[in-house]
Order: sequence, then C-alpha cells, then structure tokens
Amino acid sequence: MLEVIFLGTGGIMPNKERNVPAVALKYEGEVILWDVGEGTLRQLSIAKISPMKVEKIFITHFHGDHYLGLMSLIQTMTLWNREKPLHIYGPKYTFEFIQNYLKSGFFRPSFEIHVHELGEARLKFKNYEIWSFKVEHGVPALGYVFKEKDKRGSFDLNKIRELGLKPGPWMKELETKGKIEINGKVIHLEDVTGKPKKGVKIVYTGDTEPCERVKLFSERADVLIHEATYLNEEDRGESYHSTVMEACDIAEKAKVKLLVLFHRAPRYTYEEYKREAERLCGHKFIIPRDFDVLRIGEEYELSSLR
Ligand SMILES: [Zn+2]
Ligand SMILES: [Zn+2]
Repeated sequence: MLEVIFLGTGGIMPNKERNVPAVALKYEGEVILWDVGEGTLRQLSIAKISPMKVEKIFITHFHGDHYLGLMSLIQTMTLWNREKPLHIYGPKYTFEFIQNYLKSGFFRPSFEIHVHELGEARLKFKNYEIWSFKVEHGVPALGYVFKEKDKRGSFDLNKIRELGLKPGPWMKELETKGKIEINGKVIHLEDVTGKPKKGVKIVYTGDTEPCERVKLFSERADVLIHEATYLNEEDRGESYHSTVMEACDIAEKAKVKLLVLFHRAPRYTYEEYKREAERLCGHKFIIPRDFDVLRIGEEYELSSLR
C-alpha cells in the first residue's frame, strides 16, 4: 500500500488555508519527500511523520516555496542525532545551492548528506524506481515519477491442478528460485501464477507551463499531481505556470486515472477554486487540502489526517 500525504498544497507563498509544496510518499516503511517548502517540518509533525524516516528528498526546482524548509528539517535531524545518511536530489545547480545553503548558521549536520544533481534519469531502488524529467518553468526544473515494480500474479490453483500438482511447500521454493524441478519436470513460476500486476505510477510535475514531457511521462499513470496554479490565463499572465484547464487537458490526453490539482495560488479560497475547477475540468480530479492522504491500492481512497 502506498500513501501520498499532501503536506503543503498551495503555491508561491503560504496563506492561512494552506502551506507551500511538500508531498510525502510513504512506501514500505520509508518516507520520500517531493519538495520541501518552508514549514514542512511543522507539517510533518502535524501529520505525525518523523523526519528521521525521511531517506530521500527530491526537489523540483530552486524557487523558495519548494526548498526553504530543508534547513529546519536537517537541523532537527541533527538535534535528534540522526546517523542515517540523507539523499537530496534536484536539477542543475543542486550541488552549488545546497552547499551554499548548508554553509550558513552555527551548525553542522550529524549525518552524511549525499547530493545528486539530475538531468533526465531513471533511479532504481529495491521495489520502485524514480524517474526525473525536464519541465518548463523558466529555471532548471524537474518533474518526478514514482514507479512501483510490477508484481507477479498470485498462485493459480487451476494451473497447479492442471500440472498434476497439489499446493505445498514447493510453492515457497519456486517463489524464491523462479523455477524448480518436481518429479523430473521443470516448473517455472509463470506456469502456475496469474497475470503480473502493474506497479503503481504517480507523477509530480512541480511548477511548469503545460508541456509535452509531462504528457509523455504521465502516460497511463494512476495519479498525476499537476500544478494548476491559476484558474484562467488572465490570472496566469506571463508566469511559467499552468491553469486548471491545461492540467485537465494533459490528464485527459495522457489517460491518467486521477488528476490532482496542486500548487493553488494564494489568492483563491478552496471553495472558489473548487467551484471553478468543477465547471472547467471534465477529467476525474481531486483538490487536496493540507494533510489529506491518498491511499493507493487496487482502488484509491482520500481521507484527512486532521
Ligand atoms: Zn512554486
Ligand atoms: Zn517555481
């Protein structure tokens, strides 16, 4: 089960209703952060997620609303004597910015910080991959994909019987080895299991104008968290952001299952934004508030931690 916790859903600057961007992915005991806007430490504490569980932080770009919460997070980890290394990923200039950032103040981290500067990359971890892709925001900026590995299908009793076998301890052995020999006959795992299950795919755009790379990387995603800072083009003006309609259009074309409208400009109230989004967007979408949790299994379920 994968949980997406929306710690900060607003954009540009916080207002009384919502904080700036941070999204936590909880997966198999690990916490991954997508962006770490100012105040993320407090948001984590309200969401009852220990900063000590955060192993990887992916920054989309170096505008303050997406990374200024990093320092307080690292200072707190140090106060709590963290020893486990922390990995920070980001676009071009990440080395330089993080190095300068960490040089300020009277403290040194108690643990190793590994900084990874990325272009478009495919990072492989135990049961998932993270892909980075370039987006268009006037400064070096990346979007990220979480892609869970596809899982093997479950054991199929009919197939087992057809091969003249009975369920037993050999199934465990077959699971580890992939193939085994029974009564002189080689059995492969695929011979006795059903269709593989597709791993969950979640995409986070960070800040961007509508762009082709987002569409390409979001192809048939389960969830697309697309920035939709503005309700209309007039409000957007010359800024490198997207409108609700544009995010909707990309979700439609990429055939994503669920669109998450994110990074809302502080000028809109939740009700006003929701009313307009319902009028404008024909695709299935949600507008999360801070501390909403999206649980993704066979289906998805949205609830609030508050
Ligand atoms: Zn932003
Ligand atoms: Zn930005």
